[in-house]
Amino acid sequence: MTAQLIDGKAIAKKVRAEVKLRAAEFAAAHGRKPGLEVVLVGNDAASQVYVRNKERASEKVGIRGAVHRLPADASQAAVVELVEQLNARDDVDGILVQLPLPGHIDANAVIDRIDAAKDVDGLGPQNAGKLVLGRPGHRPCTPHGCMRLLDEIGCDPKGLSAVVVGRSNLVGKPIAHLLLQRHATVTLAHSRTRDLGAVVSGADIVVAAVGVRALVRGEWIKPGAVVLDVGINRADDGKLYGDVEFEAACERAAHITPVPGGVGPMTIAMLLSNTVDAAYRRVG
Ligand code: NDP
Repeated sequence: MTAQLIDGKAIAKKVRAEVKLRAAEFAAAHGRKPGLEVVLVGNDAASQVYVRNKERASEKVGIRGAVHRLPADASQAAVVELVEQLNARDDVDGILVQLPLPGHIDANAVIDRIDAAKDVDGLGPQNAGKLVLGRPGHRPCTPHGCMRLLDEIGCDPKGLSAVVVGRSNLVGKPIAHLLLQRHATVTLAHSRTRDLGAVVSGADIVVAAVGVRALVRGEWIKPGAVVLDVGINRADDGKLYGDVEFEAACERAAHITPVPGGVGPMTIAMLLSNTVDAAYRRVG
């Protein structure tokens, strides 16, 4: 079997087109564009690139916003104060604090202060709790994007066996809950999992979110499985690789996301989508 590639770029483009339409409808009905404000502390090179991409993507779909840049030595109190100012502004629908924050800042303490209605990254305790309880709320962008990819290829998780490798709050845990909500039988694997190969080999859906190149071996993939590779690993050759041994997995999977061009493009698209959702929810 040769897997069909899941074209995350094309699907993200479709999501952005939907968001653009909804953002324009919102602006026409409410006299202002949806607003997304990004808080960037310090000079982390990768974060600077992400934030610039978010800024450009927002503009293109008709979401207003600014990037608030604070120096690397900004105090926790200063970051929290900025978050509180953004919480208080009526024209701000979404607040995103770019992670990682410098080591002297307690990221949880900052994220906890974001108004849950504006927590478009879905990482705060209220939205995370709502996800576990199966109640409506903002879903973290990458997991939300993974679910959209499954929908786009017509994969209904109901009754299927899903294995998520990686249990971070950002990716692994939320995607496990989203799959559970959609009635998959979910196994959440991590660094202490024994015989990962045996666990993965039973899965109809495999989500790899680890950060180790080719950790998930092609021979582990059940024939006909759907493979979503969240991992982004830059190798010495300068290229990006996923967590799945791609060529070998392609021989067995029915559908697979490439890296780059699979899950990656969905993250920003879902952030924009969450922002427009937030705008509509806030106006009632
Ligand atoms: P974290 O480092 O926070 O979590 C990694 C997880 O992988 C942990 O739960 C860890 O287990 C688990 N793990 C580590 N080693 C192994 C192993 N040998 N076997 C099984 N599990 C293992 O990473 P993130 O979740 O933040 O990110 C994961 C990857 O996804 C990274 O490559 C990141 O760059 C990428 N990413 C991509 C995004 C995108 O837009 N495409 C967005 C976000 C992340 P334990 O908990 O036991 O330590």
